[in-house]
Amino acid sequence: MARASAPLALAEAERVVTEAVDCGRLASAYAERLGNSLRVPGVLDTLLAGAFESKRRGHGDIVSVSRNLFIPLTNLCRDRCAYCTFAKQPDDPAAKTYGLDEVAEVVRDAVRMGCIEALFCLGDKPEIAYKSHRAWLAERGLATTAEHLVQACQVAFEGGMLPHTNAGILSAAEMTQLRQWNASLGLMLETTSARLRGKGEAHYYAPDKDPAVRIRMHEEAGALAIPFTSGILLGIGENVAERVDTLRTIRDIDDQFGHIQEVIVQPFHPKPGTPMRGVGPIGDDEIAGWTALARLILGPRMNVQAPPNLAPKVLERLLRSGLNDWGGVSPVTIDFINPEAPWPELAELRRRTEAAGQRLVERLPVYPRDLLERPDYFEPRVREAALRLADASGYARPPKAGARVEAA
Ligand code: SF4
Repeated sequence: MARASAPLALAEAERVVTEAVDCGRLASAYAERLGNSLRVPGVLDTLLAGAFESKRRGHGDIVSVSRNLFIPLTNLCRDRCAYCTFAKQPDDPAAKTYGLDEVAEVVRDAVRMGCIEALFCLGDKPEIAYKSHRAWLAERGLATTAEHLVQACQVAFEGGMLPHTNAGILSAAEMTQLRQWNASLGLMLETTSARLRGKGEAHYYAPDKDPAVRIRMHEEAGALAIPFTSGILLGIGENVAERVDTLRTIRDIDDQFGHIQEVIVQPFHPKPGTPMRGVGPIGDDEIAGWTALARLILGPRMNVQAPPNLAPKVLERLLRSGLNDWGGVSPVTIDFINPEAPWPELAELRRRTEAAGQRLVERLPVYPRDLLERPDYFEPRVREAALRLADASGYARPPKAGARVEAA
């Protein structure tokens, strides 16, 4: 009898993938074996073809993208992940926390450019680590970064955008506050590997990367009926079994609560100056293969996203690997998490998506199914604003006349 993790021969892989496409999800017993078979001649192509068919059954020829504004509300963070260049110490000249006036200003610019999503991405609870940040908050009558974040989301919402927030670990009470102004929230699960919290591993100095804490937040968001973005981070030291477990955990949470709106498949990019600078980047075949595995594990209806700026040379390959969403692409701001990786122009992304026989549509920070069928997922004013920005299908209306939108 084959070991549970043994690679599959091509003929067996073809049978497993066909069954996965037909029954809507990949049998657990085979996910790890397929993950170990990506170098077996013919298996990667088989996997991509199956994932593409599954995507076609769930999403037709549509690939979506969100024209967004990225607001790194603060780049202070109490954690120190070994791959991160986003987080800064308070004495770093690049350390920055946005005031509400600055949020209003960037929102104005983004609305003029036809952006709808205000993506708030920030470090995790810096007030716990830094006295100077506690003082900055106290000057404004605030005790936590989350309180500042709620006000910033209100500013963005009232400025005409729909916020989506990824602020690290939030309590149920904080998510309830954020729900007032956000169309959706998110937290990359990244990995379920508790092993990576060990000495010398990627998350040793990152208490907020404890998988149990992150799983609990996913579940609390589900209990609160909040549309929620999750994701897997590939290449930070995890093994194949841990990758499969991460994707299966997201699927299980969604089976229980139904609120996972999208799953990001994000490859690690080594960055100079970080403890993981010498770790090799994840290869293009592996990115495509794990995007395909995510599709088959999560099923045809899930929104599977792969950021186009992290594998720009292989967009055509990614388009054949089962994704149906490119995520946020900003005409006004860089990717502050991966500043070395520029966004593609939306016009270029459209051209390459359409050349691959698919159709690019712009979306809101919430997907049509949730917007149209799950009014209970939203604060009424947020849903009303989202419906005004959407067309009848639930995707984004074209930007208003007068918006300075580049040809897309
Ligand atoms: S990856 Fe996120 S949690 Fe980790 S140090 Fe950077 S900002 Fe903080």
